[in-house]
Amino acid sequence: MKKMINSIFKILILNLFYFLFSVSVFSQEISFLFMGDIMGHGPQIRSAWQEETKKYDYEEVFSPLEDIISSADFAIANLEVTLAGGPYTGYPQFSSPDELAVACKNSGMDVLVTGNNHSCDRKNKGIIRTVNVLDSLNILHTGTFKDLGERESKNLLILSKDGINVGVLNYTYGTNGNKFSSPAYVNLLDSALIKKDIKKAKKEDLDKLIVYVHWGYEYRDFPNLYQKNFNRFFQDLGVDIVIGSHPHVIQPMEYGKKNNQEFLTIFSLGNFVSNQREERKDGGAMIRLSFKKSYNNILISRKEYIPVWVHKFMEKKKYHYQILPCARPIYNEEYFSNIEDLQKMKTFLDNTRSHLNTNNLGIKEGLPYGLIGFKPITILQSQVPELRKLDFKQIKTKRRRKKRK
Ligand SMILES: [Zn+2]
Repeated sequence: MKKMINSIFKILILNLFYFLFSVSVFSQEISFLFMGDIMGHGPQIRSAWQEETKKYDYEEVFSPLEDIISSADFAIANLEVTLAGGPYTGYPQFSSPDELAVACKNSGMDVLVTGNNHSCDRKNKGIIRTVNVLDSLNILHTGTFKDLGERESKNLLILSKDGINVGVLNYTYGTNGNKFSSPAYVNLLDSALIKKDIKKAKKEDLDKLIVYVHWGYEYRDFPNLYQKNFNRFFQDLGVDIVIGSHPHVIQPMEYGKKNNQEFLTIFSLGNFVSNQREERKDGGAMIRLSFKKSYNNILISRKEYIPVWVHKFMEKKKYHYQILPCARPIYNEEYFSNIEDLQKMKTFLDNTRSHLNTNNLGIKEGLPYGLIGFKPITILQSQVPELRKLDFKQIKTKRRRKKRK
């Protein structure tokens, strides 16, 4: 009898271990949020200056997105300015206050890629100081390096969670004719260099490989041949995800499968924040992406775009910038001090939807809330029409706005 109880007990214990093991295997998931270009035009720098404290402060720019950004395991954006110290300058050679990176960190961003056409705006000093500032804030980065030693060890950024390892590489088509020189280094979109880097990356225990790439013609709604060719090149080399930026407008997104291998390309995410106010340039898209691992298989478990629009408004005699997730249903005429702003955001959202819903392959819009890692939420047109239903002629402009923190 005692023996029988013992063996039943053993079986129960074994089953319990098997159950716990299965649960841990099946719950392996990693989530990402990709954002476009963080620009730093002159008016943005002036807007961040706080007369009372005599300091720069960018916190309000990202505050409406904090919950979305911080809900991803890894939130990544392209930092398209140098943090080269003063004097702070906007276009054409950017150097923003360090507080811009502080606000990125506080909003929940984990990684800033730094390889873009503005990497060398303040020459080597700018490249080196930018990397030092990011290091001091514990912001992960790749794309530009203080020296070759740093490139050797940090070029492939490995992001890990739940036993899933994802590699990130970053390259730019050029640096506006401003050259870097030893010891600093900027990753250029050079096929021989990339081949070497990817060969080396493949020796690591990676589950997926992402390349963040700065490319394309500015203000074009579709990728050019250069982007398409490089995209195919990445695909042939076994890169899983390509995240593009630089055109300042959104370009289509493509998801496909070849020989059972998933491949996702975002040709351009557009602006994440900038002072560009013209149609199509006044916003961009964020991408939510998750991978799920079970046994030896790792697949994309979530992929969706979320349109974001930059709200620039005047308050207390100065301009403010805030990045708004467009499809949040809380906006109404009272949210904006100027009703034209609501119309502009609506136009941006309509343009983005009609462009992407026509030209995307296999990637749809997602709601700007709901935590990453939970089951996918697909957008229902009936959930967003608050903006569409508004009759702008009947709405009187109200000069008050809901209080923001
Ligand atoms: Zn650029």
